[in-house]
Amino acid sequence: MHAHNALADEPARLAALQRLAILDTPREEAFDNVVNLVRTVLSVPISAVTLIDKDRQWFKAIEGIDATETPRSESFCAHAIRQDAPLLIPDAMQDSRVSDYPAVTQDPHVRAYAGVPLVTSDGYNVGALCAVDTKTREFTESELDILRNFARIVVNEMELRRIAERDQLTGALTRRGFIEKVNQEIARCHRYGRAASLVLIDVDHFKSVNDTWGHPAGDAVLRDLAATLGTAGRSADMLGRLGGEEFAMLLPETGVSEALAAAERFRAAIEARPIVVAPTRTIAVTASFGIAMLDSGITVAEEWIARADGPLYDAKRGGRNRCAVA
Ligand code: GH3
Ligand code: MG
Ligand code: MG
Repeated sequence: MHAHNALADEPARLAALQRLAILDTPREEAFDNVVNLVRTVLSVPISAVTLIDKDRQWFKAIEGIDATETPRSESFCAHAIRQDAPLLIPDAMQDSRVSDYPAVTQDPHVRAYAGVPLVTSDGYNVGALCAVDTKTREFTESELDILRNFARIVVNEMELRRIAERDQLTGALTRRGFIEKVNQEIARCHRYGRAASLVLIDVDHFKSVNDTWGHPAGDAVLRDLAATLGTAGRSADMLGRLGGEEFAMLLPETGVSEALAAAERFRAAIEARPIVVAPTRTIAVTASFGIAMLDSGITVAEEWIARADGPLYDAKRGGRNRCAVA
């Protein structure tokens, strides 16, 4: 079902696309399989999963031609996302919307197109699943049903990926999701010579919160802490829950002194925020912080985390509720 005015609200549509965090990710078998099935079942030479970004169409999967993206202004699927019903173009040369597109006038000489929008669970058409032929043809209602069902599978797959990388309790990235992001950031920083810092965060005396106020109160502390870190950080910062009551923040474009200042802000924000553990009772919690800046000796996330673990231990030994740098 569509959210109110979803078809007309382009900024909200682009935001929904951003939330999927799928643009420019590598090819994945699950999506390749769908486009190959579409080719087989609908007997077309070309099929694609496209996402319509602000000015381009980007292919998450494409079989039958070699391409990774095209301008949006030359995209059939950019028309498909403007409606709920499938877009059917039985003869591209007779359709003024697309007849002068390079894909029609030049290789591969597209003649027929059927595209079904990829509708997110909040109702935005972020892209399309399409079947493309190089000769004119009609598509039957049952072929369109197949395309619709595959389109649903594609969106489900994209949305489930996003859910799986988030920790249920706190909304932070899971350890696995965080490590994946950190590895991407390491590669990016080494390639472009950028700085980045990692902050390890461990709640102080968390066992006694559980022991005194109960496990649900402990959970409330973790949820609150993640929310505090989320608002105290910058939008590019990434929060992961590494396990139990241990978190980490990845700070892109951040040198060591800036990272220390940021950690100090996080520390103060946590300390200042009372947490409700019983109807009439709030407590204060604190956390300790270990900071390590990325250097050329760090090649994988685990090495970077280990580098921040020493200073975290120092902060604990030094009396807790403090920050220490590698
Ligand atoms: P320190 O200041 O040295 O870090 O002391 P601590 O008590 O925080 O350290 P310790 O690692 O001994 O305790 C961690 C506790 O976190 C133990 C475990 O029961 C609790 N814990 C781990 N995961 C969860 C969770 O999801 N919810 C709750 N409520 N507690 C958890
Ligand atoms: Mg711990
Ligand atoms: Mg602890």
